[in-house]
Amino acid sequence: METTEIKETAFEQQVQKLVNDQRTYFKSNATRPVEFRLEQLKKLKSLLLKHEDELHEAIYKDFGKSKYENQLTEFFPLIDEIDIAVKNLRKWMQHRSVKTNLLNFPAKSYLVPEPLGVTLVIGAWNFPYNLSLTPVVGSMAAGNTTILKPSELPERTSKMMAKLINENFDPNYLRVVEGAIPETTALLKQRYDKVFFTGSPMVGKIVNKAAAEHLTDVTLELGGKNPVIFHKDAAMKTGVKRMIWSKFVNSGQFCIAPDYALVHKDVKDEFLELAVKEIEKAHFSDENNNFVQIINHRNFDRVVNLIDPDKVHYGGTYNREDRRINPTILTDVSLEDPIMQEEIFGPLLPVIVFEDIEEAFEIIKGIEKPLAAYLYSDSSALKERFLHEIPFGSGAINDCVMQVSNPNIPFGGVGNSGMGRYHGKYSFECFSHFKGVLDKPTAIETNLKYYGYSEKQLNIIKALS
Ligand code: NAD
Repeated sequence: METTEIKETAFEQQVQKLVNDQRTYFKSNATRPVEFRLEQLKKLKSLLLKHEDELHEAIYKDFGKSKYENQLTEFFPLIDEIDIAVKNLRKWMQHRSVKTNLLNFPAKSYLVPEPLGVTLVIGAWNFPYNLSLTPVVGSMAAGNTTILKPSELPERTSKMMAKLINENFDPNYLRVVEGAIPETTALLKQRYDKVFFTGSPMVGKIVNKAAAEHLTDVTLELGGKNPVIFHKDAAMKTGVKRMIWSKFVNSGQFCIAPDYALVHKDVKDEFLELAVKEIEKAHFSDENNNFVQIINHRNFDRVVNLIDPDKVHYGGTYNREDRRINPTILTDVSLEDPIMQEEIFGPLLPVIVFEDIEEAFEIIKGIEKPLAAYLYSDSSALKERFLHEIPFGSGAINDCVMQVSNPNIPFGGVGNSGMGRYHGKYSFECFSHFKGVLDKPTAIETNLKYYGYSEKQLNIIKALS
């Protein structure tokens, strides 16, 4: 046997033991009491706060993400998710009453949230803390045990999460397992009660297939090509400002960033002029804490290859050694161009001009259902059409990406961009099963359903149903 095979087998055995131990722990009911859940959530929060500086330093070293952007896009939202769970957990755990129909009268009907068991959370690299730990918060709040596999690409952040969690939590309850494809493949061979995956649609299919072997419930948080429409009646100055920040924050490595812009021909020149102004105003640089590196050279080369030099309106320059690409706008882009064939996931904005809104809608409908979609317009009629005709996971009108910062709006995709949703109370629901219960008193009994069937009996049942 080859050395790697021996290692893999040993790793598989470790993983199998970990899953078995977590299952035994879960079955002991230790994770169910509300006090236990609250204590663990508070512990996670205090660890994050205590080690905040180290967490910022790790991500800066991994891909040049400043403390400021890390706080804004990862740390504050993550702490907020913990606070929301702690504040609302008792309420979320209560039975949820539903109406009882006449046929079952008298009775009470309700839903009982119950934890699922052993869960596996697989994270993506672009917001590594947020995308790994926010689902973990949902899993903990719902009373499960959890195995977290962060993305291996930001190596230091993955190590930080492993250190923080593995040195402070009982492995039977919460454990970080680091690794790349072989380790994730080994993890996915085990049986879980829930798999929560964030990443690309391609790997999402692999995860879904592996989970199907065990009929395990999955949530898939995937990506896609997110459109942003600028119609001729849009408030251009504010609109472009909002859009440019959303596109270039984290150097475009943002699953809900606008991927491509559909701009009405009447406002094309104004759009381009304002977009360039906004980019220049931002002064993207390491010193200004806003110039995030591309995660690795493989992604750097992939993104750079999408730049057609003949179509560059602004930018188009980059530094391979530093893995930084300057914000770039491309014009006269056609649907056949390579940049329109895949999710960009980088700081390039292709602009496509339309004359009639039908063309813009057709383009969007011709591409897989996106994770997010955005419309800039003042027309109520167009907003209504956009909301009713365009499928997308979540979105915004006259803004981009900010829907994710409202924990009352569920976050998730549709079709190729994913299935399931989380954030706030939706995270609790995502990691819970709601048992439906009919609770009957014994004092009263009707004879309607019992043997001795008759037409009259059926007619009464029909009337009561
Ligand atoms: P990815 O699919 O390459 O990797 C995600 C995770 O899967 C990582 O932990 C990785 O180790 C693991 N993985 C990779 N290849 C695997 C394989 N063959 N078998 C098993 N596991 C494997 O995605 P990524 O590059 O980390 O992230 C970029 C993608 O994620 C984009 O498509 C983006 O839109 C999407 N994304 C979605 C969200 C969301 O919330 N919906 C958030 C961030 C990123």
